[in-house]
This record gives sequence, C-alpha cells and structure tokens, in this order.
Amino acid sequence: MPAKNVVVIGAGVAGLTTALLLSKKPGYKILVAAKHMPGDYDIEYASPWAGANYMPVSISGTKAAEWDKSTWGPLADLAANHPEAGVHFQECEIHSRAKDNGSATANWFSELLSPNPWFAKVVPNFRSLPTKSLSPGIDSATSFTSVCINTAIYLPWLVSQCLANGVTFKRALFEHIVDATYHNFHPYGNVDIVVNCTGLMASKLGGVQDTTVVPARGQIVIVRNEARKMLSVSGTDNGDNEACYVMTRAAGGGTILGGSYEKGSWESQPDPNLAIRIMKRAVEMCPSLTNGRGIEHLDIIRHGVGLRPVREGGTRIEKERIGGVWVIHNYGAGGAGYQSSYGCAQAAIDLIEEVTGFQARL
Ligand code: FAD
Repeated sequence: MPAKNVVVIGAGVAGLTTALLLSKKPGYKILVAAKHMPGDYDIEYASPWAGANYMPVSISGTKAAEWDKSTWGPLADLAANHPEAGVHFQECEIHSRAKDNGSATANWFSELLSPNPWFAKVVPNFRSLPTKSLSPGIDSATSFTSVCINTAIYLPWLVSQCLANGVTFKRALFEHIVDATYHNFHPYGNVDIVVNCTGLMASKLGGVQDTTVVPARGQIVIVRNEARKMLSVSGTDNGDNEACYVMTRAAGGGTILGGSYEKGSWESQPDPNLAIRIMKRAVEMCPSLTNGRGIEHLDIIRHGVGLRPVREGGTRIEKERIGGVWVIHNYGAGGAGYQSSYGCAQAAIDLIEEVTGFQARL
C-alpha cells in the first residue's frame, strides 16, 4: 500500500502527541501545520500555559478516564527515563473542604476529591492523609505520586522527536479545514487524511465550527520560589470561578500558582486583582513557598493567561468526511490536554488506521 499523506493541524500537545505516535508507524508521511508553534505564547494557544500535571478529574467508567489511564504510563516513563523531556515526578496533595460541597469546583473535582478514585490503582503511593496532619480548614486530603511537565521543554521535545522520525513542520493559518488539502501543500503530494487538533479554535475553523467548544480562562502566576509538592484544594472563598493550586515544573521551569476557571471568558490580559488573590491563596496553602512570609516574598517570573478548550460532551475523537477528505478530530480536552494526551492520540490513530484500511479496500 502506498504511503498515506497526513496533515495534522495544530502544534499543541494534542497535535504533537498524535504526530509523534503516528510517526512511529510505517506508511505515513506527516506534515504538522499550525498558526502557533512551540516557543510562541498566544491566547489562541493553550498548551504553553498549562501547569502541567497529572491530576485526573475524569469520571470512572468514561472514555476520558480510559484516556487519562493510558496516559499515565508514557508520562511516568518520561519522568523515569527521559530527563531531556522536562517531566518529573512530584508528590501531589488534594485538599478538601466540606464547605465546598456542591460548588462548581467541587463538582468538577468530584473524582479527584474522592477517597477512592479510579486512578488510586494507577498512580503510585495513593493514600488518604491522617486528619490530624491537615491544616486548619481542611477536612480531608489524599496524596499520590504524580508528574509535573515543564511545557517550555516538553513541547519542543515533542517537536524534536517528530523531526527525528521524519515529520515535517509548516506555519499555516486555515480558514477552512479543507484548505489543508490544497494542491502542493503537503511535500509528498495529495493529502489523504487531515487530523484536526485545533483546540479552542475548532469553534471558528470553517467546516468544523463546533460551538460546543468554549474557553475556560485560567490565570496563573509563575514564580521562582519552589514548592516541595503539588497542592490543590476543592475551592476558594472568592467564588466558583477561582481555584487554588501550586506545582513546581521540572528542570528550572519555575512554580505555577493558579488560578481560575472562568467559563466563556476570552480575556487575554491578566487581572491584577485576581493575581493578588492567587498569590495570597497560594502562600496560605503552601507557606513553605515564602518561608511563612507574605506575597511580597514571591519572586515573579511572569503573569499568564491561557484558555482551556472545554467541550460539552468532552474531547471529540471522531472521524468525519468533509469536502471529500477524511478528517480525524482530536480536540476539546479542556483542562486535561496533557494528562489525556497519549490516550487521546492513540484513539485518534485507531481511527486513522480504520480510515486507511477503508481506503485501501476502495
Ligand atoms: P492548543 O495548545 O491550543 O493548540 C492548538 C493548535 O492549533 C495551535 O498550534 C494553533 O496554532 C493551531 N490552530 C488552531 N486553529 C488553527 C487554524 N485555523 N489554522 C492553523 N492552526 C490552527 N492540562 C493538563 O493535562 N494538566 C494541567 O495541569 C493543565 N493545566 C492547565 C492550566 C491552564 C492555566 C490552562 C490554560 C490549561 C491547562 N491544561 C492542563 C489544559 C491544557 O493546556 C489543554 O488541554 C491543552 O493544551 C490543549 O491542547 P491542544 O493541542 O488541544 O490545543
């Protein structure tokens, strides 16, 4: 069977992971084409802004939980055996306050806050912490070994792995998804398959225009101070669309203080008042950041805002015929794009193989 020419639209974690896994299979000539590439920071490009850690919120028995589950192994392998990828192990504590029961964050975190979530058997060292060891105001907590990804290293690492496997890269901005099939666009000729990894912008891309994908704005502060472990809590006293988490990235990537979860907001600029609240909450939850001192002892690298591509019904991994070409969708991972990346990419590749098998029989 002749090689199939594939265009992957998008160079975020979804597009790059899909391209990398596909490039390990024979029979595909892969071009990654995107408006934004690793190294860029833009409000339309979520991946650089993520923490990013493995903290599953997917519900037991769902496809999302399966994708998260099958992503743990590859991320743990990177942390254990490939330091150049910028992924390291870090202990993770999830704190729960009874007063958050029923709030938006607590509902979103329901599996994560459970004393017995599905991933207890996946990640190492899962345990409930003794109540007497908890800070005032915290009613229960769990702890496990997780990973934290330095996105500034990991995204370029994915590119370099793809390049080593023969994947080509090109900057492009598509108004319609079939633009990726234009004559002479792919270096090897006619395009057989387009993989749609456009994240939030799938809501605007012609031929897709999925209005069920919306932004969930996340504001962060990146500091030089270090946290000894990752921490997250079930809610804040500042409203349902604010959150509190801390994680230190691998290999000098700084510590991420979060955050917020503002559904429907496209605002790209950091809100200074929210930044103060984020820093105050982080220092209160994790006093070791500043040796028990105030936020003036945080050494700020930068403030940031990213938009999680949240899709009603969850990540879309489907095949669809558009304008006479097969399109495989892999977008809409919300706040879980890294922790589900390998599972989602594999699911997309299963569809690519289904389609190429189908094409071979024509
Ligand atoms: P993106 O990274 O947005 O990439 C989209 C790509 O498509 C870009 O290259 C863009 O240029 C391209 N594109 C779009 N439209 C077009 C077009 N028309 N033409 C050409 N190119 C186009 N996830 C976790 O797993 N763990 C975490 O701890 C975590 N923390 C987060 C914290 C914050 C503050 C935020 C904002 C997100 C966080 N996430 C986390 C979520 C994660 O960042 C996203 O799920 C993930 O980055 C989405 O990746 P993507 O590849 O689908 O989209």
